[in-house]
Amino acid sequence: VRITAEQLVGVATDIDGTLLELAGTGAGRAGDRTGVLRRRLASTDVRTVVDGVAALVDDLLWARPDLEERMVGIGVTVGGHVDWRNGSVVHSPNLHWREVPLASQLQAAIGYQVQIENDVNALAVAEQAFGDRMGMESTDVRDFAVVTVDRDGVGAGFVLNDEPYRGVNGLVGEFGHTPLQADGAICRCGKRGCLETQAGADVIVNHIRDAGRNIDGLDAAARLTRQGDAVARTAFEHAGVAFGRGLATLLNLLNLGLVIIHTEAAVHDERTPYRSAATRSLHEHAFSTAADSCRIIWRVRTDELEGRGAASMGLQL
Ligand SMILES: [Zn+2]
Repeated sequence: VRITAEQLVGVATDIDGTLLELAGTGAGRAGDRTGVLRRRLASTDVRTVVDGVAALVDDLLWARPDLEERMVGIGVTVGGHVDWRNGSVVHSPNLHWREVPLASQLQAAIGYQVQIENDVNALAVAEQAFGDRMGMESTDVRDFAVVTVDRDGVGAGFVLNDEPYRGVNGLVGEFGHTPLQADGAICRCGKRGCLETQAGADVIVNHIRDAGRNIDGLDAAARLTRQGDAVARTAFEHAGVAFGRGLATLLNLLNLGLVIIHTEAAVHDERTPYRSAATRSLHEHAFSTAADSCRIIWRVRTDELEGRGAASMGLQL
């Protein structure tokens, strides 16, 4: 189960990452044939989320009663600092949570073992565990990063020396909060000038709105760009340049041979200049061969892929 500020996304997978079809769903509890269940969240208070996850797991088991016998565990992912050792969410800016003992609360509500993890770290684990199911062309890479650029911000997860890298207490890959600009905008983390305040997907929308264009989100921003709107184009361009600078920092530090970027369709769309600006800026700022020796794969984020990320944590139990 993946928890975001707006919704819960649940999938059931086999041990190799294959999404299981959720057949046999009844009226009002319908799943869809993609094997993904989505539930809107009325609020992000802890009780609502815990009850929501428990109900979603109920619905998954109702759709696939055969799983009850052979379930290995339940993986749950959240954005922010998650301490996998004691199962707590230390700080999640998106959910406005601090020090929430989520795993134990979920276990009490659901009755199964729960492993929680940061959502992007989990994506990196899933790439490693289910590489071919996720779309990775080669599974013999021992060091790589997964980077996300989406409505929730900018994040990263690492597999180093063939192991998920979690740092000393789970705070790893807070790439979006790399401090880039001393006098920059206030970030949702409370600090100033983080990469996320310049390169995030929501920043693009805000820039266009600030210029007086009335748009309802990122897809509308991409549409404006395709129609030739210079302000919209510049917003994608500037965010892309900032992202490329961030990526150069990452590659200068770690000299990775592979980075997989999960992003929104509008950012991925080659008719918006985000990707081309990011690539140009990366090469401009990378030290020596850091950029040239790294293969970069851009991928459109999906609930299915992120659900697999969460499911891969169930396998860690
Ligand atoms: Zn920040």
